[in-house]
Amino acid sequence: MGAMSDMPVREEAAGIRRFWEALSLPGLVDVHTHFMPERVLRKVWEYFDKLGPLTGGMEWPIAYRHEEAERAALLREFGVRAFTSMLYPHKPGMARWLNGWAADFAGRTPDCLHTATLYPEPGVEAYVREAVEAGARVLKAHVQVGAYDPADELLDPAWGLLADAGVPVVIHCGSGPAPGRHTGPEPIARVLARHPRLRLVVAHMGMPEYEEFLGLAERYGQVRLDTTMAFTDFSEGFMPFPRRALPRLAALGDRVVLGSDFPNIPYPYVHQLHALERLGLGEEWLRAVCHDNAAELFDL
Ligand SMILES: [Zn+2]
Repeated sequence: MGAMSDMPVREEAAGIRRFWEALSLPGLVDVHTHFMPERVLRKVWEYFDKLGPLTGGMEWPIAYRHEEAERAALLREFGVRAFTSMLYPHKPGMARWLNGWAADFAGRTPDCLHTATLYPEPGVEAYVREAVEAGARVLKAHVQVGAYDPADELLDPAWGLLADAGVPVVIHCGSGPAPGRHTGPEPIARVLARHPRLRLVVAHMGMPEYEEFLGLAERYGQVRLDTTMAFTDFSEGFMPFPRRALPRLAALGDRVVLGSDFPNIPYPYVHQLHALERLGLGEEWLRAVCHDNAAELFDL
């Protein structure tokens, strides 16, 4: 992968545009990008730099370490029509503040889908309701960093209200790049048993429990998977997607959505797109995944 920062931005953007233009798409929709308060993002970057345990000890050079406005401008140059501001608390008392920031960010960034988050704590139902009433269009939950059981009863009313409102929740619940106390398919299966219509978007294709999470998507019609970091050289090197599951991935072509983890990725953005293309599932599958599925989900 080497020193990707050497690639001129214009050249990179042109490559990305060629990708979606060749598919006759109006652009990309990326459901998994990170924008958060500056000092929180700095801490996340420091964590990756120090190879904190949740990175799985992987060398993780952040490719897009730019100022906020520059990062948003870059996504526009890539032709990303809509993106998100995935943010998440690692402790109680933080989600409401993050939600305030995200509402403000969405207000000044029209192509960012208004994002909110949650944590199992008293008051969670009330602030999730406030966020939805204020126009939140997607939530982010991070079971690994938050180190909570997603089936915690404190979250139950919030899942119920999100299921009723049809607001998707991008949830990092797989055990990659490193497992957490409550990661893996089992706690999510318990959430879905209680809220079968909840629009969960399993981040990172559920890496490394790909097949178990495909199974949940096959069982529950509102479960989707985001491609974030999956199928890339980086992830295939330590958590490869099993080739035998490709037919199931092809069959779920209406439930897979593009995610990238921009800007916190150790390779250029276009690599995620090429990683999808080289699966060999065809142009129709790529069109659905890179744009149409998320455009429909978010009514774009
Ligand atoms: Zn992420």
